Amino acid sequence: MQCHYCDRDATFAPESDGIRVGLCDEHFREQFEELAETEAMESLREQFDVDRLE
Ligand SMILES: [Zn+2]
Repeated sequence: MQCHYCDRDATFAPESDGIRVGLCDEHFREQFEELAETEAMESLREQFDVDRLE
């Protein structure tokens, strides 16, 4: 599988809404850095009730 954003071979093929998109290392990181941050924060909040910690 080829990366969706460049000509390199895809190392990852995450599935999103039933669609698999090939991503190389670089583009995988680019795509998921933001998402990972958001999701990590949300799951932290859910798990530990960070908002009500005061
Ligand atoms: Zn790429």
